Parts: sequence; C-alpha cells; structure tokens
Amino acid sequence: VARCEAEETEEAPAISFRPYVEESRFNWKLFWQFLRPHLLVLAAAIVLALGAALVNVQIPLLLGQLVEIVAKYTREHMGSFMTESRNLSTRLLLLYGIQGLLTFGYLVLLSRIGERMAVDMRRTLFCSLLRQDIAFFDAKKTGQLVSRLTTDVQEFKSSFKLVISQGLRSCTQVAGCLVSLSMLSTRLTLLLMVATPTLMGVGTLMGSALRKLSRQSQEQIARATGVADEALGNVRTVRAFAMEHREEERYGAELKVSCCKAEELGRGIALFQGLSNIAFNCMVLGTLFIGGSLVAGQQLTGGDLMSFLVASQTVQRSMANLSVLFGQVVRGLSAGARVFEYMTLSPCIPLSGGSFIPKEDLHGAITFQNVGFSYPCRPGFEVLKDFTLTLPPGKTVALVGQSGGGKTTVASLLERFYDPTAGVVLLDGRDLRTLDPSWLRGQVIGFISQEPVLFGTTIMENIRFGKLEASDEEVYAAAREANAHDFITSFPDGYGTIVGERGATLSGGQKQRLAIARALIKQPTVLIMDEATSALDTESEGVVQEALDRASAGRTVLIIAHRLSTVRGAHHIVVMADGRVWEAGTHEELLKKRGLYAELIRRQALEAPLTSTPP
Ligand code: ADP
Ligand code: MG
Repeated sequence: VARCEAEETEEAPAISFRPYVEESRFNWKLFWQFLRPHLLVLAAAIVLALGAALVNVQIPLLLGQLVEIVAKYTREHMGSFMTESRNLSTRLLLLYGIQGLLTFGYLVLLSRIGERMAVDMRRTLFCSLLRQDIAFFDAKKTGQLVSRLTTDVQEFKSSFKLVISQGLRSCTQVAGCLVSLSMLSTRLTLLLMVATPTLMGVGTLMGSALRKLSRQSQEQIARATGVADEALGNVRTVRAFAMEHREEERYGAELKVSCCKAEELGRGIALFQGLSNIAFNCMVLGTLFIGGSLVAGQQLTGGDLMSFLVASQTVQRSMANLSVLFGQVVRGLSAGARVFEYMTLSPCIPLSGGSFIPKEDLHGAITFQNVGFSYPCRPGFEVLKDFTLTLPPGKTVALVGQSGGGKTTVASLLERFYDPTAGVVLLDGRDLRTLDPSWLRGQVIGFISQEPVLFGTTIMENIRFGKLEASDEEVYAAAREANAHDFITSFPDGYGTIVGERGATLSGGQKQRLAIARALIKQPTVLIMDEATSALDTESEGVVQEALDRASAGRTVLIIAHRLSTVRGAHHIVVMADGRVWEAGTHEELLKKRGLYAELIRRQALEAPLTSTPP
C-alpha cells in the first residue's frame, strides 16, 4: 500500500494537467433538443415506470396480509388455509405479473430513447468535429476526441436511462412506502426515519471517496491503454528500434499501478459492502425487536410487522439506489458536458459559403501580399513575416529553404487551413477569405504532401476520394497520368486492391503515385506539391517526378522542395528564410547572385556523394 501511495503522489500533478479536468458546463438547451423528438415515448416510459413503482408499494401490504393468515393457521387449525389464502395469492400473482410487464415496457421504451439519442448525439458531434478549424486539431489529441464520441456518449446514455428508470422508481417507492409505513405504525416509522438518513449520510460519504478512487483507477487504465495503443499503432517503429522490451516494461509498469489502484478500489468497495450489510441487518433486527415489543403489547399485528419489514427494506434499498444514482448523475452530466462542448463550437473558417469564380474566368494566379502569420496554438511565434509571393497562372514556382522555414505553412495558407494574421492571399485578385472554401479545396487546388495518407479501402475508392462523382474511366485516366496504372493492374485485384490501414501494404512510391492520381482526378487549376518526392528512394523518385512533371504542364504549380535538384526546371525559384522571401529568380540568376541559394546548392553538392546510392 505504501508503494501505491508513493506512486500516487508522484503522479498527482500529471492528472491535474489533463485537459479532461477542466470541465465545461452541461448544456441543457442542447440536451433538450436531443430529447424533444422522444418526449411522447419518454412520457409513456415514465407512466409505466411510475405504475411499476406503485405496484411495488402494494406488494408488501398484501404479503403482510398473507403472513397474517399463515400466523392464524399456526395458532388455530380451523377452516381451510387454501381457500382463505387463494384470493390473496391470486392478487399477489397478478400484481407480480403486472409489475413484470410494466418493467419490461418502460425498459424497452427507455432503451429505445437512449439508443436513438446516442446515435443522434454521435452523428451531430462527429459532424461538428469534422467542421472544426485545422488549428483546433493542432491543439487536441485525436484519442480524446474519439473518446468523446464513444465513452462519453455511452456514459451519458446509461446515466440518462438509469436516472429515469431507477430514479423514478426509487423516489416513488420511497414516498409510497413511507406512506404505507406510517399507516402501519407511526412510532416505528419515526424511528426508521431517524436511523435511515444517518446511515445514508455515512454511506454517501464513503461512496464519494469510492467514486474518487474509481475515477483515478479509470484514468490509470486509460494511461495504460494509451501506452499499448501507441506501441501497437507504431509497431514498425517499435520493431525497427528493437524497443519491444522497453514498451513491455512501460506497459507493465502502468498496469502495475493500475492494478494497485483497482485493488484499492476493490478493498474500498468490499468494506462498503460489508459495513452496509451489517447496517441493514441491524436495522432488520432493530425493527423486529421494537416491532415485536409493539406486537407483544397488542399495538401491532404480526402481519403488519411483516408488511413493515418488507416495506422498510424497500425504502432502504431505494434510498441506497438513489445515493448510487447521485454519483451516476454527476458522472453523466460531466460526460454530457464533454459531448456537448464541441457541438456548439463554431469554426472560424467555415467549410463552405462565399463566392466562386466560374471555370472559364479562372486563371489560377496566386498572390501572397505582405502576409504575416503565426499558428493559433503558438501565438507569439511569427512563422511568416511580411511574406510576398506571386504564382503566375500556368507557371511553376519553386519554394526552397531550410526545414522549419515556413514552406508548408505557405501551402496551408493557400489551402485556407488557416487565415493569415496580416496581409491577404489572393486568387485571381480576389481575397481567399471571400471565396467558398469547399470550392477552393475541392475544385481549384490539388495538394500532394510528403506523406500521402490513404484510407483503408480499395485503390479505386482512394483515387475517387478526389472527386466522388468520377467515373471509372476518369479514375483510370488519372492513374495513367500519375504513372500508377501499370503497378495497379499488376496486382491480382487491380483497382479493387485494398490498400490496408494508412496504405501500409504499398511502397512509398506507389502510395505517392496514388496520392497524385487522387489530386489530379479533380483537374485542379493550382497544384501544390509539398516535398512530394523527398521521402522516396532515387528510383521511385524518378517515376514520381516524371508523373509530377507531366501533371505540372499548364497548371499553376507551387513546388516545395528540400532537394534542390528537383526544382531546377521551375520557372521561378523563391528562397525562403526567416519567414520572408530572401531571394528569387531562375536557377542561373540565383547561382550568379552567390547568395543563400548558391550556398544551399554548394552544401547539397557536398552531401550528395554520401546520400546517393553507389552505381
Ligand atoms: P517547413 O515546411 O519549411 O519545414 P513549416 O511550415 O512546417 O516549415 O514550419 C514552420 C514553423 O512553424 C516551424 O517552426 C514549426 O515548428 C512551426 N509549425 C508548423 N506547424 C505548426 C502547427 N501546426 N502549430 C504550431 N507551429 C507549427
Ligand atoms: Mg514542410
């Protein structure tokens, strides 16, 4: 135990830094919108649940009467027990039946409401998440967003169902049974009403301590899962660095802590259960004792005492339920708050809306005018400062410069993943901010990045991702243009080949060519290639470069490159440094200038013999 505690205190700060801790308020208005379509069904469920609870209140009274008959027959053996008890037993059986039916009914209705609401909530949240700014995703972990869609919705749903079913039933039963109790015996009821809340108070205190433990234990499990998730998701890297042992140790260590926490929780729960059993049993004994003395004094019949016992047990069970339910409500509300939080968040850059330029007027001239930019998640750090660049229509412009110099950032601004903090980006003289972003991304700009991301479906579907309504012929044409048709048809399944998650079953060059086909199928006016060949080996670089050169003809092209050999053919070369355009010109002009470009060329020429493969 000592070790557990030591680890716990060591790790406490980590927990308090988790973004999960900053809770947002529960949005009742949104909740109401999700609930409104189900109000009728909900009303029916509530009526059924109330009915079931009221029947439950009746049952102890009838049981008491039955006991009274039994007692009578133990005293004086007269008449037939069967005939006398038959009527009562039938009524009891009937009540049991009704109770069962009502329970069945309200549970069915509730699960229907719960599941439909969960689907609605998941769909709405997913839809809203997909619309958020890229900056939003820079700052958030995917795992946490996904857990809002899964765990949090799940938790909210089950809390909702529990509150309606258990909450309603327990409240009704407490109220109903208290009424019948006080009709049975006022003195006993008063005693009960003193003892029960005291015990409940103690129970609630213990319960909240247990809930805290349970939350810590769950957080620890999540942390362990995170380790496993990372290792399994990046198994190639783990294997490549022979890190299996270290990952095993890391996971093992987290599991050990998690085990300690869970055991602590288990001990807590065991203690709670043990104590509450003692308490409940003592209450029964106490009631029997005091009630028995009342019976002895002829102030109460044996049957009434029996009814009283059963009813008081119902009250106690219901109140215990309510206290558990209270914790569930708290958890459900915070899960709901997390689910609703991003539903109301509206992105700064909408997905669509704004004007567009008709196809015949679109030339594809791009201008960055005195653009300044810093990433929203790193506000003080200026990536671009007074950056000015022109991409003439139909021409190829290369952007070179050191890694981290802001080249990808330029491409992101052109895609309108972010808006500049100063200056404007113009397409054919029109501010990008006035144009429809979905038109811009879907039809004007084709983007090919260094690490192509493919989806775990067929090659056909992956290429068609660029233009959903494309015919098969268009897909083939795009694949030919991207030098991909031959390798695709050499696969046994051809275009029906499943590429595996993130394209793991293809080589880098093949993936890149599919990405090029995907970008070309929309016949973009402007093509951005961000280090498109830098992750490839020399041989596939050749094939890919050939495809890129072909694709560049007649388009406005921005080539971002680290390897300068790939940009020699560009109409214009722009060297970036310090967030600005440092120098610009053709390859020859820049060489003559003997500036930064000449220096970069010289440096790469020195490195070249080391990196290129020997003949
Ligand atoms: P390049 O493509 O020239 O290598 P980038 O445009 O990717 O450079 O990055 C420029 C600078 O902006 C770097 O210092 C990088 O750390 C920072 N940066 C890039 N992406 C982000 C981001 N999403 N959030 C915050 N800073 C970023
Ligand atoms: Mg980059």
